[in-house]
Amino acid sequence: MPRTTPWAGDPVWLADVLRAEGIELVEFPGWQNRGHGDFKDIRGVMVHHTGSDNATAASIAYGRPDLRGPLSQLHIARDGTVTVVAVGVAWHAGRGMYPWIPTNMGNWHLIGIECANSGTSPTAPHRHNWPDAQYFALVKCCAAINRRLSQTAARTIGHKEYAGRAQGKWDPGAIDMDLLRRDIQAQIGDISRSAPTPRPPVPVGEYADVLLFRGTEGPLVAELQRLLRSAHPEFAGHLAVDGDFGPETEAAVRVFQRRTPGLKVDGIVGPATAAALRLNPAPATAVTA
Ligand SMILES: [Zn+2]
Repeated sequence: MPRTTPWAGDPVWLADVLRAEGIELVEFPGWQNRGHGDFKDIRGVMVHHTGSDNATAASIAYGRPDLRGPLSQLHIARDGTVTVVAVGVAWHAGRGMYPWIPTNMGNWHLIGIECANSGTSPTAPHRHNWPDAQYFALVKCCAAINRRLSQTAARTIGHKEYAGRAQGKWDPGAIDMDLLRRDIQAQIGDISRSAPTPRPPVPVGEYADVLLFRGTEGPLVAELQRLLRSAHPEFAGHLAVDGDFGPETEAAVRVFQRRTPGLKVDGIVGPATAAALRLNPAPATAVTA
């Protein structure tokens, strides 16, 4: 029976509800005792890609030298294998905001799912490079958790929807979250008395919609190139201001990101990198080449 009151504390039921959904679940050793402390009330699910098609469940359990694991509660391999690695809080959400989550508190209110996938690119079409087995395992996991919490699919969000503005995140790449939620809702079926879900916010902040990467063209790219040339001549003085985001622009962005604490070095100018650069998001006439 679905609960109609908020679940508070660790999701000790995770393995059971996933198996009940028909998932072949692997229990990573020690998962029942792994976590960065205890959950507060669990309000939904957050979906991620790992950035690599081959990232293992162990890498999610143990983390990296700069970020100790667990990095999420669940890992889904490309063959659809689901592994539960932790039941306590995991470092997956970071800074961000969404209407039903306290600002910057996603880790204490969201179960994280890391999918072993490169994400391809921020504009790749839905399910590009997502094998059916991995995609439908993801749908089942989200449905099982949302249903257990008496929620609709509206309570599954992507990292990019929460942290796109704060951190420049674009994961899960090649996943249209509205289409994913449609599939999750079909899997959930009808549940009575679901928890009410506020509408998502209208994006705010001058950098909210900035997303420039290899292949992007236009005046904002020219503005980026002009800014990099003038502010960072030591590594960007050679850039052409042509409004075409090519390999040299990407390389300069990476250098800037590597030199700026807190930025992910991915060569993509999202809101966080744009803010760090103080990029003018609405250049008047930027193409001078
Ligand atoms: Zn993520």
